[in-house]
Amino acid sequence: MKLFRLWLATALVLLIVSSAGLAQESMIRVVATTTQAADLATILTQGVEDIQITGLMGAGVDPHLYKPTEADIAAMSAADAVIYSGLHLEGQFDTVFEALGQRGVIIFPVSKPVKDAGFVIGGFTLSAELTNVDDPHFWFDPRNWEMSALDLAETLAQLDPAHAETFRANAQAYTAQLQALFAWGEAGMSSVPEAQRHLVTSHDAFQYFGGAFGWQMTSIQGISTADEAGVGDVQAVIDTVIEGGIPVLFVESSVSPATINAVQEGVRAAGGSVRLGVRSLYSDAMDIPGTFGGTYTGMIASNIYTILQSFQCAGVAVTIPEWDSAVQPEPPADLLAPDCQ
Ligand SMILES: [Zn+2]
Repeated sequence: MKLFRLWLATALVLLIVSSAGLAQESMIRVVATTTQAADLATILTQGVEDIQITGLMGAGVDPHLYKPTEADIAAMSAADAVIYSGLHLEGQFDTVFEALGQRGVIIFPVSKPVKDAGFVIGGFTLSAELTNVDDPHFWFDPRNWEMSALDLAETLAQLDPAHAETFRANAQAYTAQLQALFAWGEAGMSSVPEAQRHLVTSHDAFQYFGGAFGWQMTSIQGISTADEAGVGDVQAVIDTVIEGGIPVLFVESSVSPATINAVQEGVRAAGGSVRLGVRSLYSDAMDIPGTFGGTYTGMIASNIYTILQSFQCAGVAVTIPEWDSAVQPEPPADLLAPDCQ
């Protein structure tokens, strides 16, 4: 850790020196750590030419484990503002954020308004130092993401006052979409019979999602993928699946499928049967930009289609509501036609 700090301090000094001459004064540079934060910043700055958004993490990247690269540190050092998810989601960034904050770079967590309003789920222990931390996956309740959108618009307004009204208008238009998305999702998720509303995943990323739509959650790993899953964790989930007659298990796009596969094998070895979801769920990372799952609204909608279709394939009575075209982008045809296998 000491060596890393020393390396970081040296890297920052070198970058300050080297970036000073290159700075384009007219362009406001915003760096966003996660795919979700980058998507939100891009939507809110639509129509504003003097802001450049750079996302650090790519599709399918696990933000709990992602270590900032030298290029990431260069981008953050040269930025006017760094937008991140927060609540220790980006577990490897703490030292860098501290150094950037001391240098006067605006560091803004999009989870802040949700935390301030008391809507976070707390009381978790991540390590000997990190006790009583909050569940970082707050974005999975679209009502939380609305708060983030409105709040980020105000941060952007401070950064670029000339375009304050554009940021606010973009945030208003977007929150209307998020409300329509929530209503659409609720109609589908509540069509599953109450006793069967139970989602089983690799790591505990969906508590806010479950809270939003009235579903129960079970996962093998805790709220961070940095905790290794033990044999006992896998066995406990096997027991829950068998006892609850849970018909489907879901793999996450940013987490190895190994533990979910182990649960499926364990259930089969005990004489039971359980399917895997018709596709993986997006948990901590979205898909590549330009795809449906590469947007926040598409990621949430894709997960809801995947869950409902997977339960339908397992013989559960489900109603998948007609897409609300107030929400953009429109789902692609292949998402609407699952392969039950
Ligand atoms: Zn996570």
